Order: sequence, then C-alpha cells, then structure tokens
Amino acid sequence: MSRRINRVATVSVHTSPLDQPGTGDAGGMNVYIVEVAKRLAARGVEVDVFTRATSRDLPPVAELAPGVLVRHVVAGPFEELDKTELPRHLCGFTSGVLRAEASHEPGHYDLLHTHYWLSGQAGWAAKKRWGVPLVHSMHTMAKVKNAALADGDRPEPPERVLGEELVVSSSDQLIANTAEEARELVELYGADPKRVARVNPGVDLSVFRPESPLLARGTGLLPHRTGPARRRLGLPRDAYVLLFVGRIQPLKAPDVLLRAAARMLADDPSLRPRLVVAVVGGPSGSGRSRPEGLQALAAELGIADVVRFEPPSPQAVLADWYRAADVTVVPSHSESFGLVAVESQACGTPVVAARVGGLRTAVADGESGILVSGHDPADYAAVLRRLHAEPGLHARLARGAVRRAQGFGWDATVDRLLEVYTGAMSLPAVRLAPPTLTSRLTAEVTA
Ligand code: UDP
Repeated sequence: MSRRINRVATVSVHTSPLDQPGTGDAGGMNVYIVEVAKRLAARGVEVDVFTRATSRDLPPVAELAPGVLVRHVVAGPFEELDKTELPRHLCGFTSGVLRAEASHEPGHYDLLHTHYWLSGQAGWAAKKRWGVPLVHSMHTMAKVKNAALADGDRPEPPERVLGEELVVSSSDQLIANTAEEARELVELYGADPKRVARVNPGVDLSVFRPESPLLARGTGLLPHRTGPARRRLGLPRDAYVLLFVGRIQPLKAPDVLLRAAARMLADDPSLRPRLVVAVVGGPSGSGRSRPEGLQALAAELGIADVVRFEPPSPQAVLADWYRAADVTVVPSHSESFGLVAVESQACGTPVVAARVGGLRTAVADGESGILVSGHDPADYAAVLRRLHAEPGLHARLARGAVRRAQGFGWDATVDRLLEVYTGAMSLPAVRLAPPTLTSRLTAEVTA
C-alpha cells in the first residue's frame, strides 16, 4: 500500500516564491511553485519551500499561505546574484537545507521536489541523506535553449549541462510540462522514459477569466474589449491593443512585436491613432545588461508614442491587461510552456505565438490563436493585420481561447502531481549519478 504524503520539501534556490514574477529571475516557475504549494496545502500536504536568503532582513521562515512555509537559507552574500554565480554557493545552500531538516524528527519530509538544475544539486544530496524520492522539474533546459538562441544572447555554460545531466540521472521522477519536453529529456539527456511524467502547468481560472459573461460561456459574438478593464487602464474603447507580458530579455523576443507594429504602421498609417502596444514586465537575463534597450528600440523604430511600458504587475492587474488587449503576442525563441499564453486565453484574448516548445501545446493553432513559424516581424504583422481586419475570425478565436484554457486549471496539475508523487514513493529509488559525473561537475564549477 502506498504511504500517505504529509510533507513535501520544495527547493527553489535562485528565486523565491515571494518575489513578484515578471522581472529578473522570477517568472513562470515562481507562479508554478506558489500555485501548486497552496493547492497541495489545501489538500493536507504541507509544503516547505527552501530558497536562498537575498537580504539580511528576511526572516528565517515566512508563511506564504496556510500550510506553506518559505525557508530562507543563508548561503553566499545577502544580495541578488546572477545565476552564473550561484553554483559556487550550492554547498552552503545544501548544508543549510540539510540543517533545517536535522532540526526536525527523522522522516519530517516524505518527498523532495526540486525546480531548475541549481536546486536539483541540493536535491540529490538531500535525497541520499533523507532517504526520500527526488522529483525534479527542469523548467528550461540548456541544450534546448542553446539550440534556439536569439541574436547576441549568450549560450548556457557547460557546467549547467553537466548539472542537468546529473540531476536527470539522480531523479526518481522527472516532470515534463509537455510531451515534447518529455521527449527532449529522453533524447537529449538520456532520461529513462519510465521516470518521466508529463504534467501540464495551469492557470488560476478564478483570476484569469473573461470580462464578458457571454464570452465566459463561450457564446460571445462581439469583441468584448470595450469594457471596464480598458477604462481602468486608461485605454480608449476603439484602440487596437497588442500585448506582451513577461520578462524582457532577447529569448522572449519582445523586439519582434515592436518591429511588427512598426511595419503595420508603415503599411497602414491610418492605424496610428488607434494602435497601442503594451509591454508589461521588467528586464531579465541578458536583457538586464541594457534595461532601456526596448525603449530605445521603440524610439529607433519611430513608435515610442504607440508603445506603453508597464512595470511587473500582480495577477489581478495582469488579468485586466489580457482582457483589455485584442491580441497577446508571445514571439519567444524558446518556451518550455508559456503560462502567459494560457492566462491570456483564459481571459478570452487570442494569442499569436511563435511555433516553438510548449507554446504548441498551450495554443491550439487556428482555434484559440495563431502560431507563426520563425521570428520575421513581417509574418507577425501579417497575422495581426488579418485579425484586425477580420472581426469574425477574431471573435471565433476568442471563444476558442476560453475553451482552450479550461483544460489547464491548477487543480488538474495538482491531481496529476499527487499521482506522480505517490508513484515515486512506491518505485525503487534511483541510485545517485555515477561519481565520474559528480566529479566532472565539481571540477567545472570550481574551475
Ligand atoms: N507575470 C506576472 N507579472 C508580470 C509579468 C508576468 O505575474 O508583470 C507572470 C505571468 O502571469 C506568468 C509568469 O509571470 O504566470 C510568466 O510565465 P511564463 O511561463 O509565460 O514565462 P517564464 O517566466 O516561465 O519564462
């Protein structure tokens, strides 16, 4: 008989669930950890999230929600560190995690769930000490990212690839967001297919929902974007609003949207008084080296008057942005899933997205949005012009978007995760990665 799971240790070294997503290192993974932890706790599974303390003022333990604690582990300086600097603090972080558990009765945690390769390193050490299963989510993979780099973006370093190989070979279960990610884990990282489980991430359907009750029921015939959300955001009723939401970095390609908008205006100057391009989010990754880069591009393209930059925003405000937009554009070069695409659809706003990674699962091409191959702004401009010119098509996609999103609630994610957790507890434990791999990683990181 399978053992009941009472308490899960979740590890998120490089970003805290208390951070505002949409800038720096905080994005979909933070949302995932928070939403899953709250729902696990509501079902009687307590969750402790271990993260690195980035400020002296943080308490050792903070309550995120009933049944969910955030444990701040002191490892390295009290400041935000670039992800490339974190490997050298992993020993300190791991011993902090082990010390926290040592203060409890043995068997305090039933299972470890680590997120991103850095946390996986603490995970395999803790798994061995605690004798519990290790479940790992990659979120992004260096080999996949490096194959789809934007111009000028720096490749992920070899120690990340090694660290990923190490955690893949040490995990009892790997969680893949999509079937494609599952295949990549097997083909690129040599994962055992029996140890890979597909679990779609989700969306909070109570926050992200359409403004129009008709559209919510899937029967709306008219575009709904004329209501209170536009008023609250100070957008004119007759505007044509194109939205980008997310961390601003070359990988997410917000420049493609700006270039597409410039092209639309060049082809049809009469659109100018009504076109609004909204960009919600802050700099991240290599985008941090030039935080004003996108503003400069808007000025260079002569569309600074059309583009509205908004700071990273909480979910309730984001929901208004999705509802107010005609189309959300997700032109990423690589995306393991793309929560933004699902959130937008849940609000009844079709998505125009790059035909890459998880976006091919998140968006039903021709039904809830349109997928575009490649990153040529002219192709995006053509699709956006078509959606503007054909209100019937837009309305059909808007209805399809709401339907599509209904398949992605967080409760379904947690149902499936609990199945995977239970399965991991009953499988024979995977032995740790071969020492050759661990010593290669140690040599790379300390070099
Ligand atoms: N997000 C947010 N506020 C913002 C911008 C983004 O809360 O201003 C959230 C957004 O709602 C989504 C997440 O950040 O849930 C981004 O996830 P996604 O999977 O689209 O991209 P990732 O950050 O994982 O690359």
